[in-house]
Amino acid sequence: AKEAGKGQYASYHPDLDERAHYDAQLGAELRLAMERGEFRLLFQPVVRLPDRHPVGAEALVRWDHPSRGVVSPDEFIPAAERTGLIVPLGAWVLQEACRTAADWLHGHGATGPWTVSVNISARQLREAHFSRRVSAALAASRLPAERLMIELTETAVFDSRAAAQTLREIADLGVAIALDDFGTGHSSLGLLRNIPVSVLKVDKSFIDHITESPAEATIATAVVSLANGLDLGVVAEGVESAAQARQLHLMGYQLSQGYHFARPMAPERVRDLLVALDGR
Ligand code: C2E
Ligand code: CA
Ligand code: CA
Ligand code: CA
Repeated sequence: AKEAGKGQYASYHPDLDERAHYDAQLGAELRLAMERGEFRLLFQPVVRLPDRHPVGAEALVRWDHPSRGVVSPDEFIPAAERTGLIVPLGAWVLQEACRTAADWLHGHGATGPWTVSVNISARQLREAHFSRRVSAALAASRLPAERLMIELTETAVFDSRAAAQTLREIADLGVAIALDDFGTGHSSLGLLRNIPVSVLKVDKSFIDHITESPAEATIATAVVSLANGLDLGVVAEGVESAAQARQLHLMGYQLSQGYHFARPMAPERVRDLLVALDGR
């Protein structure tokens, strides 16, 4: 039996019946949580090296569970994907992120060259007319398409036969597309030819050991050179130390994200950072 408490949701039994039961139960809870408005977004700044000016922010969903406190997405996004609830939840995230960013822009005059990023799962991408959902979210919020970036994993793109066409439609709107967790999928290089990617987000696992392992440093350097050669932006993810930030800059990385610079934070705090930047 599962005990109540933190981490409960991640600890399903690998047995398939158990998982189906777990998913059904969590699916019902997630549906209720949506109705009750228990989700909210934090935003983690993406910064420019070496001056650490914010150039964007990634929306990261949180669940304020009435009895268990804040539940992290790693504990409920996988089940939301398996149950299909990611479709309404993801739609909410997209709308809320656009609405919040439009408020930074129109409501507070943060007019610098920043973008807001939203994570999109494979299941959302497979939805019929997903590109229309994106354009509707932009129109409803009055957020210019150029302010929005969507983040997709290689696996999400690879899994979806309709993805290339849908992504072309989204790119045609003017929305930027980032390949998330770059390097951890199986088909990275072929994908770059087939879909309109403009940014690579290099997974934290490729950044973790760059300061002590020459082999790891070689890989991280190769990725930035690939990105430069293809005229793509490249973001180093999960940067936790000043030494890593320094080395990434020397390697040619211009964009970075991680606890060393800023943790995911309330939207008002990101807004203040972006507004302050405009005054410079
Ligand atoms: P991700 O898209 O790779 O997002 C980055 C995750 O790394 C975030 O965790 C962020 O808080 C964390 N992170 C950032 N910098 C550091 C660092 O320096 N050190 C460490 N240890 N971690 C760092 P978070 O917010 O818990 O999200 C986990 C994952 O859940 C995300 O990984 C993404 O795959 C998924 N997720 C979050 N929000 C959404 C959403 O709205 N929709 C979908 N489909 N997935 C989401
Ligand atoms: Ca992401
Ligand atoms: Ca990532
Ligand atoms: Ca990740």
